[in-house]
Amino acid sequence: MNRPILASIDVNAFSHNLSRVRDLAPESKIWSVIKAKGYGHTLDAVLQGLESTDGFAILDITDAQWLRDHAWGGRILLLEGLFHQNEVDLAVKLRCDLVIHNEKQLEWLEAYQNRSGHEINIFLKLNSGMNRLGFRSEPYRLAFHRLHAAGYHMHHMTHFANADQVERSPSVGEQMDCFDRAIAGLSAPISLANSAAILWHRQTLGDWVRPGIMLYGVSPTGAYADIVRSDLQAVMTLRSEVIDIQELKKGEHVGYGGRFEAPEDMRVGIVACGYADGYPRQAADGTPVWVDAAGADGTAVICPIAGQVSMDMLTIDLRGAPSAKVGTVVELWGKEVPVDDVAQMSGTIGYELICALAPRVPVTIK
Ligand SMILES: *Cc1c(COP(=O)(O)O)cnc(C)c1O
Repeated sequence: MNRPILASIDVNAFSHNLSRVRDLAPESKIWSVIKAKGYGHTLDAVLQGLESTDGFAILDITDAQWLRDHAWGGRILLLEGLFHQNEVDLAVKLRCDLVIHNEKQLEWLEAYQNRSGHEINIFLKLNSGMNRLGFRSEPYRLAFHRLHAAGYHMHHMTHFANADQVERSPSVGEQMDCFDRAIAGLSAPISLANSAAILWHRQTLGDWVRPGIMLYGVSPTGAYADIVRSDLQAVMTLRSEVIDIQELKKGEHVGYGGRFEAPEDMRVGIVACGYADGYPRQAADGTPVWVDAAGADGTAVICPIAGQVSMDMLTIDLRGAPSAKVGTVVELWGKEVPVDDVAQMSGTIGYELICALAPRVPVTIK
């Protein structure tokens, strides 16, 4: 082994989190959202941990190909549909369900002669207030009729902008009202709920739910406190080791820019993990790092980041960790330190950190 950094993916935690989605939405089928290579967890791990899902929702048709090549026989949803007309054939061959969110995609499907012998599932996307993808109500109804007339098997879909917040506009209630008006009289299965809606808006569940972040054991709001009672388990754990220790004199500074100044004589641990591994450079002093067996009594302790994170290393305050030495194992995020906590100290959300795990970090699936 080269550098001691390693990301491990716990497939049992994946299946545990999926069963939590089943508990919360027992009547719904589940699209496990695995865009961005399973939010950075690798498609291999996703396929092992989430094999009892009803379908996988992805962006890239190459990921659909990968799933079929790896014997995935269940449903696949292309969340942004097709990007080019010449992909229709391949999408049908791979038996993908398609989101349709604009007029161009609609025209491609109207022009398509389906000779595959099986029905093609369309998730028609309504813009109910997020104003990102989708048709507004009137064009939505027309699009529904056109695709239905062209022989496609229709589903209704929209996406919430604020399922993780109560007081922002558009609210879940406003978007639901818009959705209900738009689909009135157009009978078809519906799909609305992302993780936050599954956790906190039971009225949105519908026929297909679309959990992403909760499957990875990370909070939709950015705050770990919001999911601490939801019985979700962290799937990705990022660990490394202390590779050097510096004895500082009071008043000395650490690293680039000297952001941390030693308030007394103290030890600082150098950890083999930096922003080129996906650890956020924005992490403030005080960001927690779990340090194994480093307490005075040999138990694990949390040590704060001390000084600017650099490309390949970060530095931690070892005043609470008298037993730490070169080779001591640290956890940057995972079971001991919620990635949400690291994200909060870095001005971002857990989603971004797990997705940004760098390719140079080796991944092991357990
Ligand atoms: C990413 C995505 C989801 C999953 O969202 P989470 O917040 O990760 O649960 C659901 N639906 C759509 C359309 C998405 O793009």
